[in-house]
Amino acid sequence: MSYTNPYRKRILVTGGAGFIGSHLCERLLQEGNEVICVDNFYTGSKRNIAHLLTNPYFEVIRHDVTFPLYVEVDEIYNLACPASPVHYQFDPVQTTKTSVHGAINMLGLAKRLKVKILQASTSEVYGDPSVHPQVEEYWGNVNPIGIRACYDEGKRCAETLFFDYHRQHKLQIKVARIFNTYGPNMHPNDGRVVSNFIVQALKGEDITVYGDGSQTRSFCYVSDLVSGLIKLMNTDPSITGPINLGNPGEFTILELAEKVIKLTGSKSKIIFKPLPQDDPKQRRPDISKAKEILHWQPAIPLEEGLKYTIDYFKKLFGEQ
Ligand code: NAD
Ligand code: UDP
Ligand code: UDP
Repeated sequence: MSYTNPYRKRILVTGGAGFIGSHLCERLLQEGNEVICVDNFYTGSKRNIAHLLTNPYFEVIRHDVTFPLYVEVDEIYNLACPASPVHYQFDPVQTTKTSVHGAINMLGLAKRLKVKILQASTSEVYGDPSVHPQVEEYWGNVNPIGIRACYDEGKRCAETLFFDYHRQHKLQIKVARIFNTYGPNMHPNDGRVVSNFIVQALKGEDITVYGDGSQTRSFCYVSDLVSGLIKLMNTDPSITGPINLGNPGEFTILELAEKVIKLTGSKSKIIFKPLPQDDPKQRRPDISKAKEILHWQPAIPLEEGLKYTIDYFKKLFGEQ
């Protein structure tokens, strides 16, 4: 319980000014908690949390999680890490440091405070998967020396650290393997496929499909994902995960491009660009565990979520 109010939990969200983190901070505040958002604003933005700043139960700390952090909290959600391939490959050494040193520091903090900690892991731990759909038991197919490795291996090592702190120090951990998530608060220059296509369509620019567009992804709307994260955090202490969180609807990238063009009414044309190295060919979560353990499944289908996201970017560009 909070040190200032016994009825209010004080929750730390690292990466809280980012896309998912900002939605999580907002939801946790709505549910009556106190929230400390820690972010170094590498890919996050003050704009994402501007509306929360007047809330007396919300606090922001500019801090890089690769350095130790001393605060007093009741729960930790560790989301700090750039998630878009463009951004995590821009400074790959820093990406690995953020995942690994960041995890060590947040685990050290959780250990000192004896509080539970949730890790935002990723479907990238499965790499370019040969098991489809991906189940949590699958150990993955990751190129350890490729351009995605700074992120994939960083996140795999973070999972290792979480399970070793759990075994060695009896720490309560929760590991969520998040699949492609999209929605409002994605940065217009984020570089991931949903925001790229929507921004291109709204600006009348060419839609850049990498490769032939036959690779698949499964897209989860952010409000669904946030519900899953909070449900996982609030499970029985025996539940550690890893648990897949994502929307099992699977689409080719070309289908996504066509949907975005249809929903925006854009005259943009689809152009094809080279497929980046190690780009996974297929991805879809098996969410049986999340359904059974968390009683969770996504509620927002792709077209509906795309409409909300398109509305967000239209408003954003209207303000500029
Ligand atoms: P994002 O880039 O919008 O948010 C990441 C946030 O972390 C940003 O605010 C950034 O400034 C902050 N950050 C980065 N390095 C930091 C550091 N060293 N110290 C403090 N803050 C730092 O990305 P997102 O999509 O919101 O992703 C949030 C988390 O969820 C990440 O850990 C990501 O790996 C994970 N995840 C996201 C997805 C997805 O599809 N969105 C999928 C799988 C996993
Ligand atoms: N740490 C932190 N905040 C805390 C406690 C620890 O940032 O409140 C950091 C600390 O700097 C250390 C890391 O977490 O580098 C791991 O802590 P742990 O206690 O597990 O390891 P040790 O301090 O024994 O190396
Ligand atoms: N992609 C694309 N055009 C873009 C951005 C991405 O075709 O402008 C493709 C990318 O090659 C990948 C898929 O869309 O196959 C998802 O990419 P994203 O960067 O969103 O996330 P990933 O799942 O690859 O980490």
